[in-house]
Amino acid sequence: MSSALLGQLDLRDIEGVDRDQRGEPTGYLREQAACGAWSWFETSLPRDQQINAIRAAVKLAYSKGVASLHEMFVVEWRGWASYDVFREAVEPCALNVVTYLGTDEVDRVAGLGMDRIGGDYFLDGSFGSHTAWMKEPFASPPPAGSPPHGIAYRKDDDLFDFFMTAQDAGLQVGVHAIGDAAIEQAIVTWERVAEKVGASEVRARRHRIEHFECAGDDHIRRAVALGLRASVQPAFDAYWGGESGLYSQRIGWERASQMNRFKTMVDGGLALGVGSDSTVTPLDPFLQMKALRSHHVAGQRLDGQAALRLHTLGSHIMAGQERDRGTIEVGALADLAWLDRDPVATGPEDLESTEVLGTWVGGRRVHPDAEAEAE
Ligand SMILES: [Zn+2]
Repeated sequence: MSSALLGQLDLRDIEGVDRDQRGEPTGYLREQAACGAWSWFETSLPRDQQINAIRAAVKLAYSKGVASLHEMFVVEWRGWASYDVFREAVEPCALNVVTYLGTDEVDRVAGLGMDRIGGDYFLDGSFGSHTAWMKEPFASPPPAGSPPHGIAYRKDDDLFDFFMTAQDAGLQVGVHAIGDAAIEQAIVTWERVAEKVGASEVRARRHRIEHFECAGDDHIRRAVALGLRASVQPAFDAYWGGESGLYSQRIGWERASQMNRFKTMVDGGLALGVGSDSTVTPLDPFLQMKALRSHHVAGQRLDGQAALRLHTLGSHIMAGQERDRGTIEVGALADLAWLDRDPVATGPEDLESTEVLGTWVGGRRVHPDAEAEAE
């Protein structure tokens, strides 16, 4: 945070403020303090500015041939008032927006008529900030005051109560889990729910886990048994994988080489969808397809056909929308992207320069602007 923004925040009695020897804030905020800064940002943006930003994101999606988007709306940071603005912004748009509300307020979400909840509902943090929750400690020491294994955001019993309540309300639940300890917590908690309500009931809700980066063989096998689905971000490997990448710096190459094992997941029968986690990586399916096909670990690469399939049908399966989206056939919605090249035959190195000549959502053209029939 800049000193100007720090001056806007009330940092007294709040955890996570990094301070120098004189006791002055350095500008690094963590956890509670970082959430406070996020909330300040969200609640300070004028409504028009929020709407313009959201509409710009919709246009960006169209320009990349994207007709459906899964929004991970973190209510815990952004607040319900921002969600009202978000809804107002996307409602007139043709884009198929599937929203996951990051909150444990099951009744409120069910009351909105939604059949899903969570998404980026955090069980842990991330590698960049040393907050991914790991079974073994980080190899590079985290900053002073941070635990060596990362951070567990939820207590086991609280998570169980949330899962049970949402399961009973008929909702699909998504959670954010990156470290192996966080993934273990998600899976073992669903196993507890399955003991109560039966595995077939849990499977029928097709719950999902976001990121799933440090999933071991056992996690994949148990996730399949529970009918869980994994929402993965191939570009995480492209940006932070490899022997000298961020992940390797954090936990060493031996452990880092076992992350984001997309091929192992697909071969293990796990349903996968792919995304950008924008703004964490750019909203660009061509970049993501390239990352799937050029994984740092050669044995985890997927071919062009599999990469395209995960970007179309695969991601619709995540939201239960595969019945009429994700394939080109009679009776399906005409969600189409017209490209200047074949994304399967094109080599990974030339994918990112793909030009999108047209995008249609439900048969209505939305890109380019000059040809658009819908917003
Ligand atoms: Zn996340």
